[in-house]
Amino acid sequence: MSEPHIENSPQVSDEVKQTTCYMCACRCGINVHIRDEKIRYIEGNRDHPINKGVLCAKGSAGIMQHYSPARLKSPMKRVGPRGSGQFEPISWEEALSTATEWLAPIRKSDPKKLAFFTGRDQSQALTSWWAQQFGTPNFAAHGGFCSVNMAAGGIYTIGGAFWEFGAPDWNLTEIFVLFGVAEDHDSNPIKIGLGKVKGRGKRVVSVNPVQTGYAAISDDWYGITPGTDGLLIISLIRELMRSGNIDVDYLRRYTNSPWLVIRNPGAANDGLFLRDSDGCPQVIDRSTGKIVSHTTKNISTAMHGEIALDGGGVATPAFVIMGETYMDDAYAPESVCATVGISADRIRQFAADLAEAAFAKEVVINQPWTDWKGEKHKTMIGRPVSMHAMRGISAHSNGFQTCRALHVLQLMLGSIEVPGGWRFKPPYPKPPEAHPKPAGRPDQIQAGKPLAGAPLGYVLGPDDLLLNADGGPQRIDKAYSWDAPMSAHGLMHMVISNAVAWRSIPC
Ligand code: SF4
Repeated sequence: MSEPHIENSPQVSDEVKQTTCYMCACRCGINVHIRDEKIRYIEGNRDHPINKGVLCAKGSAGIMQHYSPARLKSPMKRVGPRGSGQFEPISWEEALSTATEWLAPIRKSDPKKLAFFTGRDQSQALTSWWAQQFGTPNFAAHGGFCSVNMAAGGIYTIGGAFWEFGAPDWNLTEIFVLFGVAEDHDSNPIKIGLGKVKGRGKRVVSVNPVQTGYAAISDDWYGITPGTDGLLIISLIRELMRSGNIDVDYLRRYTNSPWLVIRNPGAANDGLFLRDSDGCPQVIDRSTGKIVSHTTKNISTAMHGEIALDGGGVATPAFVIMGETYMDDAYAPESVCATVGISADRIRQFAADLAEAAFAKEVVINQPWTDWKGEKHKTMIGRPVSMHAMRGISAHSNGFQTCRALHVLQLMLGSIEVPGGWRFKPPYPKPPEAHPKPAGRPDQIQAGKPLAGAPLGYVLGPDDLLLNADGGPQRIDKAYSWDAPMSAHGLMHMVISNAVAWRSIPC
């Protein structure tokens, strides 16, 4: 009897198209196999820099975007009572003429009366542009209740966040810390990175209420009480400060912690950075004790002390205020342990592990380089601690401040933009000043005209808020008002309740 022939490399396609997976925000490269003009199979593109051939189950399921029997094939019109689920397909001509009939009078009279809030559509560049062209500032997508706290906290603190803004230095990091459920957004790159870190025998640490997903392969798991990551992070900062395990030279050179803050209680300038007549932040030169511009080359800036100001009050480095704030006993491991659900000893050990990786295992690369001031360095010093977090710590009412605290922790360790740490990808880091401001002030809205700018952006001060003539919120979600001044992607989750509450308020 002859052996049965087994075809172990059947031809699955007569054409392969390269494109990008859109099933999550990771944007992996994919090869789409097509046979008889139908998609047969999706595989990861081994030549793509993001995923290097790795494809997750969701990416494979991208085929269902085309062939799921449940997908919409044409616009649908409701034909039964609201909530009855009775719809019928209609033509695009009918859909567009219905939409025009409803929307044209609003655009001609008062375009802000259209509230256009979309879901997780991955096409926000287009929908935002459409809202702008219509003329309404009342636009946002899902980001306000998802991971945008991470992006906004990151952009305001370090000029970018985790996510696709950059990546850990997988080849040199000694310890990789994951906060929360961090499996979205950078999914496949994180999987590849975890393989590299574990393959080199380095530590993976997970801070997560449950030890599932990526946490399942962690060497250390901190089973934190949900929503308390910020408190744990501040306690870690306190512990690092208390034990002297912070990179003061890094903070001095590459952060605004030496910038002088005015302390003048009761005065309008209390709490603002001290600036010269050109708006340049000021620091104290340690060798002379004098106030100079922070851009002055070849000085060592003071991180302690205070200096009297001619106009009244004193100025002190921001680092002093950070110390006063973080060293509060309220953040001692013994004070926070019951709330975060992790013992004081383990919190101290966590801080000690971070310090050991950052300082006892520092990376030194013999590569001369020139920093932002033009000062030259013979070597590159790396602090091999890297971190990643996403929606898990972001989607809380304290998410923005938690994300900011996490980036401050990285800065304290000197582990951003260094070998072994977290490294940005161009065009990041980008300061908030490089991002657009939201449009939607009363003078930026005109009947029948586009809005004078994109509806979403980053505010830099009170002048950028979107307030009505009474100083109240201009947008239906109250974004960029005194209620929620830094809501970078709007507050989609507030629209329906605000609409109901405002229905009784006369225009
Ligand atoms: S991680 Fe998965 S779903 Fe996301 S882009 Fe990559 S293949 Fe697609």
